[in-house]
Amino acid sequence: MCGIVAAVAEREVAPILLEGLRRLEYRGYDSAGIALLHEGVLSIRRAEGKLRNLEAAFHREPMPGSLGIGHTRWATHGRPVERNAHPHRADHAVVVHNGIIENHLALRDELQARGRVFSSETDTEIIAHLIVEALEALDPAAYADPLHTAVQRALEKLHGAYAICVMSERYPDQIVVARHASPLVLGLGEGAQYVASDIPALLARDFVFLEDGDTAILRREAMEIYDGDGARVERVARRINWDPVSAEKQGYKHFMLKEIHEQPTRIIDTMRGRLVPEDSDVLLDGLKLSDDFAKNINHIQIVACGTSYHAGWVGRYLLEELARVH
Ligand code: GLU
Repeated sequence: MCGIVAAVAEREVAPILLEGLRRLEYRGYDSAGIALLHEGVLSIRRAEGKLRNLEAAFHREPMPGSLGIGHTRWATHGRPVERNAHPHRADHAVVVHNGIIENHLALRDELQARGRVFSSETDTEIIAHLIVEALEALDPAAYADPLHTAVQRALEKLHGAYAICVMSERYPDQIVVARHASPLVLGLGEGAQYVASDIPALLARDFVFLEDGDTAILRREAMEIYDGDGARVERVARRINWDPVSAEKQGYKHFMLKEIHEQPTRIIDTMRGRLVPEDSDVLLDGLKLSDDFAKNINHIQIVACGTSYHAGWVGRYLLEELARVH
């Protein structure tokens, strides 16, 4: 699980992206990054660790742009270091991604065999390369929206869960987004369009909830949505009049009620990309735990208070019962 934000507006979008990421920081916090498009040129700023490191890096060296995408990461593939932070770039295209691409190793091998050079260990970077390759393979004059078509072609090759936002220097008026099994909402503004993993990240009032398989093209003045078969569709916008506090409560009367109701989704979001049931395996790249190290653990301390204290008790029970570690 991680947080994605994107914005196409008539003004500078960096403050919108950083504020949106701050509201999504609960979703992932091992590194963060933003990419901005200004006069057809991409610039990227990324930082390891908490969002404030990215904010500091950005304020030391601000970048202009009225189109942008941002990400706060919770690593599934590749350690939480700057070179693995999103956005990931291949030539003229950049991508942010929430989720996991299960067949990334096979795709990476194929792309490398065709001469593509990778700069990160993530599953995400393959998406950027696939989009660039797909664009090169099609005749841009034959398609109304070549970047969107290239994204659709790239997605056909992926197995797994994704919510993505894509920008390209060749198509500097648009952001293309897509989702499958990872959340993504679109927010409609005046002369501006926004995207995020979750409602509280956006200061919009009207929202469109993308369905699984949907893709969309966002431009300042409008958005176009397509379903998984590539047909243009209308998704009804819903007005959500939440002030910042109710936005955080997401329509529930109390935080406690919200937390009770969101348990199933939170558990699925937390486990997504980390449990591999077919191999009875778990992926915990960020922890850097080798098999030998894990086997030699004979005592674990859980330090927590409040509700985490109770979660700690459940953890203790499971660790003792299943792993036989005190
Ligand atoms: N699988 C991607 C990565 O490890 C995305 C993780 C996320 O959703 O934050 O970079």
